[in-house]
Amino acid sequence: MTKLYYAKDADPSLIKSRKVAVIGYGSQGHAHALNLRDSGVDVRIGLRENSSSASKAKEAGFRVLSNAEAAAEADLIMLLLPDTEQARVYNEEIAPQLVEGDAIFFAHGFNIRYQTITPPQGIDVAMVAPKGPGHLVRRTYTEGGGVPSLIAVENDATGKAMALALSYADAIGATRAGVLETTFKEETETDLFGEQVVLCGGLTELVQAGFETLTEAGYQPESAYFECLHELKLIVDLMYEQGISGMRFSISDTAEYGSLTRGPRVISDSVREEMRRILTEIQDGTFANEWIEENKKGRSNYHRLQEDGKKHPVEAIGAKLREMMPFITAGKKRLEDISGG
Ligand code: NAD
Ligand code: MG
Repeated sequence: MTKLYYAKDADPSLIKSRKVAVIGYGSQGHAHALNLRDSGVDVRIGLRENSSSASKAKEAGFRVLSNAEAAAEADLIMLLLPDTEQARVYNEEIAPQLVEGDAIFFAHGFNIRYQTITPPQGIDVAMVAPKGPGHLVRRTYTEGGGVPSLIAVENDATGKAMALALSYADAIGATRAGVLETTFKEETETDLFGEQVVLCGGLTELVQAGFETLTEAGYQPESAYFECLHELKLIVDLMYEQGISGMRFSISDTAEYGSLTRGPRVISDSVREEMRRILTEIQDGTFANEWIEENKKGRSNYHRLQEDGKKHPVEAIGAKLREMMPFITAGKKRLEDISGG
């Protein structure tokens, strides 16, 4: 049964009775740390030596310790490092400091789900995962709102792990927006599937393939760019605001009839079959193992694919056309101001 929690369900005193270490001071780290502190929670920051984030954390008035010192002092440790760094830092610097009754928290389930991190039995293991980037977690909190979040408990050693996680979620503002109970397994697998198949992987391939089809048929790349990439945002905004039917109401009847009859031919049975294969690779750990190996080998394949992507013709034509749309450039500038560059 779906469980959604709000502020009335949380006990703010639980998190205030803990010593919290936020490990990492990046996108999520700075937002969690600042929101927790403003909610009256005792927070220290753990960072590696020579971390470029240390000066920012100190300027914000936090005590900055090494990862091991912060973990030793704290009885609740929130790991907000890049997911690919977490296992090494946990095993070398955090695990030796854990004592029975401590809690270790995550904002994404990858390392627990694929067992690159396996905390001992006496430790509460929970997740509080905001469904938005860190700068929004901070900004909405200061405005009196919050970012909806997922919450999960993997190990309930104290019998109070869920209440503690909910108290943490409350202190970062999430219960103002809604906190949905899930599991590490569901959060990790749906997150990976969404980014691979729909949001990031599927979408970018769809745009590039449409652009290539038009330009190879001799149409101007400018036309192909406007059709296949620029307009996407306008359509997605309508879907975001009003759902798919609402979006269909706003487009022409020609566009609607064409989309209803041709869409299923693009996302054909063989495409759906491939989606299921990708989901299976997520579920059986094939993707996780491949990504862990890629990191161990220095990410050469990853970097090569990144560079290839930058050379796609849709990038050059897009850069030229966006220069002529100062309102888009202004939007980009605003984002850079918010995130600090
Ligand atoms: P980030 O890359 O913005 O920040 C990582 C921080 O860790 C930086 O301060 C960096 O200096 C520090 N760091 C790196 N290596 C370190 C080490 N060895 N020791 C100590 N500090 C180190 O990361 P992020 O995007 O905030 O992601 C953190 C977690 O939050 C991840 O689990 C991620 O999946 C999750 N998450 C991120 C978002 C998001 O929108 N960014 C949303 C939800 C959940
Ligand atoms: Mg400790």
